[in-house]
Amino acid sequence: MTTTTHHPIAIIGGGLGGLTLARVLHVHGVGATVFDLEASANARTQGGMLDIHEESGQIALREARLYEEFLAEVHPGGQAMRVLDKHARLLREDRDDGTGGRPEIDRGTLRDLLVSSLPEGTIRWNAKAVSCRALDDGRHEVTLAGGEVFTTDLLVGADGAWSRVRPLVSASTPAYTGISFVELDLFDAEKRHPGSAELIGGGMCFALGDEKGFLAHRETDGSLHIYVALRADETWLGSLDFTNRGTGGAKAELLRHFDGWAPALRDLIAEADGPLVPRHIHALPIGHRWSRIPGTTLLGDAAHLMSPFAGEGANLALIDGADLGRCLVEHPGDPEAALTAYEAILFPRSEVAAQESAEGLEAIFDASAPKPLLDMFAQFDDAS
Ligand SMILES: Cc1cc2nc3c(=O)[nH]c(=O)nc-3n(C[C@H](O)[C@H](O)[C@H](O)COP(=O)(O)OP(=O)(O)OC[C@H]3O[C@@H](n4cnc5c(N)ncnc54)[C@H](O)[C@@H]3O)c2cc1C
Repeated sequence: MTTTTHHPIAIIGGGLGGLTLARVLHVHGVGATVFDLEASANARTQGGMLDIHEESGQIALREARLYEEFLAEVHPGGQAMRVLDKHARLLREDRDDGTGGRPEIDRGTLRDLLVSSLPEGTIRWNAKAVSCRALDDGRHEVTLAGGEVFTTDLLVGADGAWSRVRPLVSASTPAYTGISFVELDLFDAEKRHPGSAELIGGGMCFALGDEKGFLAHRETDGSLHIYVALRADETWLGSLDFTNRGTGGAKAELLRHFDGWAPALRDLIAEADGPLVPRHIHALPIGHRWSRIPGTTLLGDAAHLMSPFAGEGANLALIDGADLGRCLVEHPGDPEAALTAYEAILFPRSEVAAQESAEGLEAIFDASAPKPLLDMFAQFDDAS
């Protein structure tokens, strides 16, 4: 017979958002259990650099009492930024003088920081939620892969783009934005790919034109992480042959899309080491929201998946987790008041960010790119 356990607060998903919520609750003496489908904390490499914004992610890390630890892990020089055109002409360069409000950290390092800040046993790995349902008494019941069932007073969907909790509150599902990525890496760039290392610089680099481009980052391990990005039909990535590190066909097909681009940019594809990873970019509708449903809510991508072109998703996941934790602590014994207060902050904030992400997408993938992106940065300069 299946036994049913009870967890007062169950957080489905141990990404940045779910972990921040658990941590903020923990620093206020409130326990919660996080369920994640991954086999362990390090089952999957959490690649990529994230810039953590002063007005969101950094506030969350302070609320989680992890700000000093975060600062110790920041990538020096990572806030540098370049914008190039398809001929690899440098059109804008921002140097990192250490005073910017968006320091960069490796995503895996940030996640490790959060994981190790939680008491042993808070996170249940290898725990994939396969279904969730409301019970008559306001609680929810969750079934995990493998058949384990538990009930909870507060069910938080922090389970990302394809959330299993979201259908409890909303019928919306993410839609393809029309943008496809192929992710690739150039390892040990200074030594093995000095030309590419020089081209990208010490932080982020956009090389754009003709509705496509390269979004590149210098990583803390000395590699270059590149998103080759273009407008494409949703079936396009599925038609590429990614076997044998893309040499079976994907690299040649990508290079064909960048005919006429500077050889230094084409080299980023030709010289890529390791596997090439295809990725469709999806988003929920701008302004996604739901009516209050007792005993459950969403945070992070589960609540407001957006394209990454404003660099807001991880920052929002962090601040959502911190805000939800704070609201629960501020309304002891009244979770509905806490969830109402949280969602009143969540909905307008994520709508603004989703709008900015959609505008970022149009600027980056415009036929006249990189001009619209340069104009956007010039507006930020004027405003600051
Ligand atoms: C290519 C790319 C680049 C990006 N770059 C940036 C950037 O530069 N800056 C930025 O701020 N944001 C960026 N983002 C967005 C950012 O990655 C996300 O917004 C952020 O990770 C969302 O955090 P989350 O905790 O909500 O969800 P996730 O990070 O997706 O975490 C969800 C967790 O839930 C678990 N899970 C999923 N389903 C289940 C289930 N059924 N049961 C149990 N566990 C489950 C997963 O294993 C995972 O650990 C980028 C996104 C992409 C795709």
